Amino acid sequence: MESSMTNDMHLETERTDSYHPYEVSSESAVCGQQEFHNLLNVLRPNGIGRNPVGVTDIKQAVSTPALTNVVIAGPCSVESEAQILATAQALSKIPEVKMLRGGIWKPRTRPDAFEGRGEQGLIWLREAKQKTGLPILTEVATPEHVELALKYHVDALWIGARTVVNPFSVQQLADALRGIDIPVFIKNPVSPDLNLWLGAFERFQKVGLTQLAAIHRGFAYYKESPYRNFPMWEIPIELTQRLNVPLITDVSHICGNRELLQATAQKALDLATDGLMIECHIHPEAALTDGKQQITPEELKVLLSNVTFRSKQSGNVECDLAGLRGEIDDIDSELLQLLARRMEVSVQIGEYKKRNNVTVVQMDRWKKILADHVATGEEMGLSPILINKVFEAIHQESIERQGRIMENEEESH
Ligand code: PEP
Ligand code: MN
Repeated sequence: MESSMTNDMHLETERTDSYHPYEVSSESAVCGQQEFHNLLNVLRPNGIGRNPVGVTDIKQAVSTPALTNVVIAGPCSVESEAQILATAQALSKIPEVKMLRGGIWKPRTRPDAFEGRGEQGLIWLREAKQKTGLPILTEVATPEHVELALKYHVDALWIGARTVVNPFSVQQLADALRGIDIPVFIKNPVSPDLNLWLGAFERFQKVGLTQLAAIHRGFAYYKESPYRNFPMWEIPIELTQRLNVPLITDVSHICGNRELLQATAQKALDLATDGLMIECHIHPEAALTDGKQQITPEELKVLLSNVTFRSKQSGNVECDLAGLRGEIDDIDSELLQLLARRMEVSVQIGEYKKRNNVTVVQMDRWKKILADHVATGEEMGLSPILINKVFEAIHQESIERQGRIMENEEESH
């Protein structure tokens, strides 16, 4: 408590004396705050700072066609003045690129790897902003990073996946940003833990930040996979169902290699992401971090010209979709009735098993049913994964109900 107060007071003094994140200073002459506000107005046309996350309809505001063009690009790490300037200049010529990313402090798995240029890198990143007009975005992991990033007029911050796993660190960052309504992009935690991700949003929301966005960068996974970080698309989708925040997909950290970028970007856009984050380097082969997944600005241009941005909402599309959605609603209602009927029969079987002293689980029969369903499903174009998931869930529910019958708790009606 005491340290967070000291921290706040310290920041406050610094800000009023020398800089303020929302002042248009000569340093921001090319890319003024106004331009960044314009960008956010594209992201959130309802205005800035008025919509507490999860309360008003930011989602509706972000589903404008303009938003589907939001691309955040830039190197994994800011390495040198020449590298960031050349990369930024090339990126600024791609209309979809709306922000320049660049890591200043790099979280590395092993010591002795390149850990970022620190404050010097911020000077170069600010220069890139001045020369190109692109708003800049960097990762912060400690209150000291926050202070320096604000000092150099970074326009938005992101919280990295390794930081989001630690509520102590997230709280320290939130305390350092108390009352400073700078846009903060929150990456998913390394582990597939939706609550941890939601908790990070809540911590920033509680200190008054209203410009929050999510970055999906995939999750560490115990199985072999072609991805560096397994996407588990259902988790970001659920996050956006729970919170009204824009969702950016960081395809670079999901893929870990250039080859998968295009298809993964398309998949993200198909699933209704609000934008893409893609690591770009003027010489990817010479990159000091994440070389395998970075692409040149030229390659980014090609990638973007080959993906289809999809509109989340439009009058005509909504109209066309209404009929199909009605059909889905009818089918779902039939499915529910069938499920209820199936459970009733299951209960009757349970009663029979009880009367005849037969065990609830009949593994051989169950294995045969499942194999038959998978085969039939495949003939109907349904994936084995779906069939397994659906019937495992139904079987589980049946076992639970029949188990209760054995204990005399449930009877058919
Ligand atoms: C990065 O964006 O370069 C980075 C380190 O990301 P993450 O936190 O997703 O690993
Ligand atoms: Mn990286």
